[in-house]
Amino acid sequence: MKLNERGLLVVLSGPSGVGKGTVRKALFEMEGHDLVYSISMTTRPPREGEIDGDDYYFVSKEEFERRIKEDAFLEWAQFVGHYYGTPKDKVEEQLKQGHEVVLEIEVQGALQVRERMSDAVFVFIAPPNKETLYRRLLRRGTESNETIQKRMDKAEREFPLAHKYDYIVVNDEVRNAADRILAIIRAEHARTERSIYKYKEIMEVDES
Ligand code: 5GP
Repeated sequence: MKLNERGLLVVLSGPSGVGKGTVRKALFEMEGHDLVYSISMTTRPPREGEIDGDDYYFVSKEEFERRIKEDAFLEWAQFVGHYYGTPKDKVEEQLKQGHEVVLEIEVQGALQVRERMSDAVFVFIAPPNKETLYRRLLRRGTESNETIQKRMDKAEREFPLAHKYDYIVVNDEVRNAADRILAIIRAEHARTERSIYKYKEIMEVDES
């Protein structure tokens, strides 16, 4: 008996450097789910090893701005000098087909999705502490000191916004964090308000 026909939108968010990407990849490697990743569009240049259409759709500033005007994004944000956005049509199509769609986005964007799609599940991925976040940004070695400082300053402004999310998952260990997210997704499926209408239909329960 399948109670949820429309897929669930899962928003993974949190400060840059917290390990959202690594946790998301670990989540997708786990068994027993039907998750689809929404590939974002960005004007940031590709890092070494990143593939267009796989990690991101890399586009010019002009193209991104044209798409903003066409209202092609579910959400978009400027992050440390570049645009990032979630293409709307693909997300909608996958949800209609019953897939769980995962967004991995920064905080401003997540709050825009909250306004537009209140039935999505919002997970704030937090570092175990500030020191660990700083060390992770340094270790990544892909950004200049100035960019790292900007990302750290931004993180300081994002920490207080965690209360706007449904769940907080501390990324102490990647596998643990991914496990907890999968447990959240499973629990969300069983939530009464997501399944009650279909349940009543199947069980022929009267509205009274
Ligand atoms: P990075 O440059 O490290 O790949 O990404 C910078 C930040 O932008 C990260 O926090 C990442 O999660 C976020 N991001 C990636 N894609 C999107 C998106 O489509 N929308 C928003 N709002 N943020 C995104």
